[in-house]
Amino acid sequence: MNTAIARERLEEIRAELDKSITVLDGAQQHDRSEDYPQDPADAGANLSETERTAAILAVARLQRGEVLDALRRIELGTYGTCADCGKGVPEGRLEAKPEAARCVACQSKRDRLRH
Ligand SMILES: [Zn+2]
Repeated sequence: MNTAIARERLEEIRAELDKSITVLDGAQQHDRSEDYPQDPADAGANLSETERTAAILAVARLQRGEVLDALRRIELGTYGTCADCGKGVPEGRLEAKPEAARCVACQSKRDRLRH
């Protein structure tokens, strides 16, 4: 994987995430400032809307962190090396997910531990 290309793609992803996070943050603040009490049915609908926004925000922030980490690894010259086993991360995986820090085997091991 050419790190110059990887860096470009990561910067693009970061810009996209920044945009989404700004929009979602605004939406969340708007939700909070709405007047209560409301019709219980409306309140329920708004709650799930707020929860959905919060969930998407959490994922976007997490991915942004991974993207920043990947950019740091490019600086350090360790990009494309699995953070756990030290083997090379396959090119195809980096193309699909440029912020990937681990090979598929190590990542699925981690995902299993988390659940
Ligand atoms: Zn690995």
